[in-house]
Amino acid sequence: MSTVNSPSFDNHELVVFREDPKSGLKAIIAIHNTNLGPALGGCRMYAYANDGLALDDVLRLSRGMTYKSALAGLPLGGGKSVIIGDPATHKSRELLLAMGDFVDSLGGKYISAEDSGTSVADMKVLASRTAHVSGINNQQKYGGDPSPFTAHGVYLGILAALRHRRGRGNLSGVKVALQGAGAVGRNLISLLKKGGATVFASDVNAVNLAQAEALGAEIVDNARITTLDADVFSPCAMGGIINDDTVDVIRAEIVAGAANNQLAHPEHGERLRQRGILYAPDFVINAGGIIDVYMQRANGNQLQSEAKTKAIGDTLTAIFVRADKEEKGTAVIAEALAEERFLLPDGQRAVMRAS
Ligand code: NAD
Repeated sequence: MSTVNSPSFDNHELVVFREDPKSGLKAIIAIHNTNLGPALGGCRMYAYANDGLALDDVLRLSRGMTYKSALAGLPLGGGKSVIIGDPATHKSRELLLAMGDFVDSLGGKYISAEDSGTSVADMKVLASRTAHVSGINNQQKYGGDPSPFTAHGVYLGILAALRHRRGRGNLSGVKVALQGAGAVGRNLISLLKKGGATVFASDVNAVNLAQAEALGAEIVDNARITTLDADVFSPCAMGGIINDDTVDVIRAEIVAGAANNQLAHPEHGERLRQRGILYAPDFVINAGGIIDVYMQRANGNQLQSEAKTKAIGDTLTAIFVRADKEEKGTAVIAEALAEERFLLPDGQRAVMRAS
């Protein structure tokens, strides 16, 4: 496993591996860029088939955080961590304490938060060993799970995409095919149903599907979700859903969802454009969570999180307009906009200044 030769390396400032046989911890922390501030990003726990896949995942996710925070207007850099192991069987208090020590060893260059496979409760265990954890506010009415804010941002992003394409940003008569009825997906289903949309949902988890159905979604086979006759396809499960197998069969006019790294490869974004499908870049539309986690750390409040999340729709509209004008994919334009914000004037990236 070579880090710098990984296709996802992209000038990361720092990539650190930790193996602790006593607790069973095997983890990687990746810091992509800290020009705008310390690298804040979630800690994912997943049963990767091999270490190379874990490295690739953490590098891609970490890079995405740099772009996401820059476009959300946050004074943050991009980073991410992964714990290699099945959260259902491999997670223990000792392992989480060891992860807390690992995060602490970087002295604040990386700030952790919850992600797939970890919870607010897990982050509180990390926080007993390090101050560099966010998203665990103990305030009664504000704090903890950021997924409602992520869902709200995605909802506003879907409205912005509809407005851009159809001149009206409302959901009456709009059909949404949503994959992944997890924490974000279910919050999004509620918002979409309230807004008047018809929602079709798929998942691989029967319990989550039952909850989606209770919220008013019509359940469809997961194998059919990408080809459904819908106006909007909303990926809210795992990354890579826009790939060689799906990019030419998606029937929706808009792709807008919460999942990170939806495009298996940048070319799939261009293919969507060629097919006339408007893609809301994932790292723009799903920024509600990082906004909220940042606000919790900055001792902000719910109103401030909501106000900043509302700007996601405007940012997307600016990206859609520029992409049309320049006849380029929306992800390409979004990356260029982010780089205008986080790259140093000489284009340099690798300056570790946060502490
Ligand atoms: P979650 O784990 O609560 O939900 C994910 C759901 O997807 C689960 O119901 C799971 O069963 C389902 N799923 C997994 N693999 C699937 C597959 N192959 N086909 C269909 N369904 C599948 O996660 P979440 O917090 O809701 O996050 C969803 C996505 O959004 C993830 O990609 C996450 O990285 C991204 N995201 C989440 C947040 C947040 O605030 N939680 C913020 C930004 C991005």
